[in-house]
Amino acid sequence: MSNVDWQGKHVTVAGLGVSGIPAARVLHGLGAVVTVVNDGDDERSRAQAAELEAQGITVRLGDGDTLPPSTELVVTAPGWKPGKPLFAAAADAGVPVWGDVELAWRLRGQDGREPAPWLAVTGTNGKTTTVRMLASILEAAGLRTAAVGNIGVSLLDAVLGEETYDVLAVELSSYQLHWAPSLRAHSAAVLNLAPDHLDWHGSMEAYAADKGRIYEGNRVACVYNAADPATEDLVREADVEEGCRAIGFTLGTPGPSQLGVVDGILVDRAFVKNRQKQAQELAETADVDPPAPHNIANALAAAALARAFGVEPAAVRDGLRNFRPDPHRIEHVADVDGVAYVDDSKATNTHAAEASLAAYDSIVWIAGGLAKGATFDELVTGCAKRLRGVVLMGADRALIREALARHAPEVPVVDLARTDTGAMSEAVREAARLARPGDTVLMAPACASMDMFVNYNKRGEAFADAVRARAAESV
Ligand code: ADP
Repeated sequence: MSNVDWQGKHVTVAGLGVSGIPAARVLHGLGAVVTVVNDGDDERSRAQAAELEAQGITVRLGDGDTLPPSTELVVTAPGWKPGKPLFAAAADAGVPVWGDVELAWRLRGQDGREPAPWLAVTGTNGKTTTVRMLASILEAAGLRTAAVGNIGVSLLDAVLGEETYDVLAVELSSYQLHWAPSLRAHSAAVLNLAPDHLDWHGSMEAYAADKGRIYEGNRVACVYNAADPATEDLVREADVEEGCRAIGFTLGTPGPSQLGVVDGILVDRAFVKNRQKQAQELAETADVDPPAPHNIANALAAAALARAFGVEPAAVRDGLRNFRPDPHRIEHVADVDGVAYVDDSKATNTHAAEASLAAYDSIVWIAGGLAKGATFDELVTGCAKRLRGVVLMGADRALIREALARHAPEVPVVDLARTDTGAMSEAVREAARLARPGDTVLMAPACASMDMFVNYNKRGEAFADAVRARAAESV
């Protein structure tokens, strides 16, 4: 179905939502006969349905499991679980299922323009940061580009909108990759692989296999994390184009075909003429904001993809210098009484929190929330020596408290039972009490936020507000 004649084609769009609604509109605009099916039937979905129906799109609310009989193609929201009956029905009927990424991929060039190649990024953590760094580097190289996927411009807009791009920096989640069988990136990176979303994928193997799809058919480079052998295994298993190279990134001295760090300099030993003997300086670690180890790794991955696309070293440096992290990702909020306050509300799983805890020497850690089935022993063991104290909050805080009791019994712990809007102020107050000058108060909860906050943004804002209020008091 690559050059599909959409006229009169019966397409079922699964899920009203951020990807379903634009997909339904685009397909309808191309002449397809579109039916949207949706599990929910609430006020919001009724209003959305009314708008779509006014344009001639059929919407069935309250039944996302029945496949409309004439369906020739299902386009699903990426979050829909593979085990849903709708997909079993599609398989029985021999009907293909595409996700939002597959749809965007297939619609590239539909309007006759030469499609922009994709530089794609996935991983358990660091995707958004890396994709933004990559877009910044590509821009510094004078290329027309955008950060797309879960961030910035939507994929459909990027491939069908008025803007013409030379290359796209694409963030892809494991869900999106699951439903994108024919995606073929120019080059791609898997940043890291830690257990996450296992309830959706069913097993770690299935999760890894979906992530690994990003390498399928790569033309120039498969970028892997030398410190995470599972990512290299995925490269080995992928079916790539002839001549496509495996490129590693490492925080240590790079071997041939790797990018790495030597004496505070990011260096490229992959895209240079004589890689056995030579390395090319790209940037300094101080050019990366923040220069925490995991973020240097993100910068190296972004640099590897940009270099695979032929970007000059100076543009890598300029792009990294121009890059500023998004809010709530290891964001320095203020220094109060000699203590730094850092908001890493986006650390919603243990792997992310581990990275930010590794970046500071003496920490008062604010943690807790919804654990999503995680265990905390490894995380606590890794950082125990650097903890001045811990303030716990949220639904699953007992899991962290028990891990601390097992592996760091000497570390003082404040356990906050309250969950009202003032809880974060109290957490910051308690953290300030535990901290000494030179310490960092780090809010990296290792948990999701929805037990107490609307989302991680709101949690981060509550923290920053409480810190600023303290700073104002201490003046
Ligand atoms: P994603 O888009 O994958 O969720 P982000 O770039 O938004 O990733 O970063 C989310 C959080 O993950 C950050 O706040 C930080 O705590 C952590 N993080 C970022 N990069 C890495 C990395 N390379 N390894 C481990 N953790 C990371």
